[in-house]
Amino acid sequence: MARIVVIGAGVIGLSTALALEREGHEVVILAKDAGDSIVSFVAGAVWYPFKVGPVDKVPAWAAATRAWMLELARTTPEAGVDVLTRFELANDDTRPWWADATPDLELVRDLHGTPLPKGATHAWKFAAPRAEPRLFMAWLAASLRGRVRVQTVSSLRETLAAENADALVNCTGLAARGLTGDRELVGVYGQVVITEPGGLDLHECLGDERDEREMFYTIPRRHEVVLGGCAEPSPDDRPTVTTPQMTRTILSRAEQLGLRPGRVIRERAGLRPFRPSVRLERDGDEPRIVHNYGHGGAGYTLCWGCAQTAAALIRG
Ligand SMILES: Cc1cc2nc3c(=O)[nH]c(=O)nc-3n(C[C@H](O)[C@H](O)[C@H](O)COP(=O)(O)OP(=O)(O)OC[C@H]3O[C@@H](n4cnc5c(N)ncnc54)[C@H](O)[C@@H]3O)c2cc1C
Repeated sequence: MARIVVIGAGVIGLSTALALEREGHEVVILAKDAGDSIVSFVAGAVWYPFKVGPVDKVPAWAAATRAWMLELARTTPEAGVDVLTRFELANDDTRPWWADATPDLELVRDLHGTPLPKGATHAWKFAAPRAEPRLFMAWLAASLRGRVRVQTVSSLRETLAAENADALVNCTGLAARGLTGDRELVGVYGQVVITEPGGLDLHECLGDERDEREMFYTIPRRHEVVLGGCAEPSPDDRPTVTTPQMTRTILSRAEQLGLRPGRVIRERAGLRPFRPSVRLERDGDEPRIVHNYGHGGAGYTLCWGCAQTAAALIRG
């Protein structure tokens, strides 16, 4: 058993801490913020590999996470995971790059007998587990033996020494840029509008990422629906405030698709920690430090697969 410090209490930090505890380690979690201001609470939190790489590793991480979430949906209702049917619009029948992660992927040419919207000729249909961030994060935290200690870390090496730890896992999302100097990591702004269900089916979600400038998705939760969105590369210090203009854009995209969401309940915005490749590796200078950040628009989609790889790296 080793003593391990995890920095960060977003979906990546908490799932990594859980994987490490399940291997028998003593885990200490340090986080600047553990409340719902972090991007892990902004996410629609449906399983879908969006704005993330690399293409040769993501499908395996995504498949492992999907299997875990499907199991949670079956066995652990308090984790807030449910299984939705996702329809992802496409312009042709080219298999998506992440297809190996979804054995049930099916190509359809209509939506329940009605033509596909916005000129799409095909759609990929598959079972997509979705987490309710508030429930899932609370369940993760409650599943841990260790508790989150609110503390801002300014040096990974100094923290490793100060905590007298055998290893440290860096799960600080976008803030990893400041801690490591990683210039490949950038913020990608996203906004969502949360509405009452209105005329929307709470068991199905629709995604259209064919053109990121006009992207749209619906992600139903148990009692509300998340509508999105946008993906705008942004400076780290871009305020994560919502704009009425983006709200109008999202609602008008829903209308163009013939969807009738209910009343707007609230809006949220956040910066996805995007990197061309998730950084999941030992530090080149200090091998007792493992990095696990840069999950872009897919932190929920990859969390468990990446947590298990991080635990394997600690094992050596
Ligand atoms: C609009 C939107 C929709 C999204 N939808 C989805 C979706 O449907 N599916 C999906 O899979 N993903 C989605 N995402 C992406 C997802 O939210 C992120 O990939 C994920 O939350 C990243 O998690 P994280 O734990 O790495 O980062 P964070 O949630 O940012 O957590 C980082 C943690 O590190 C801590 N920290 C930072 N700096 C320090 C420091 N110096 N010292 C101590 N602690 C520190 C923070 O306080 C925090 O606790 C969406 C994102 C957005 C913006």
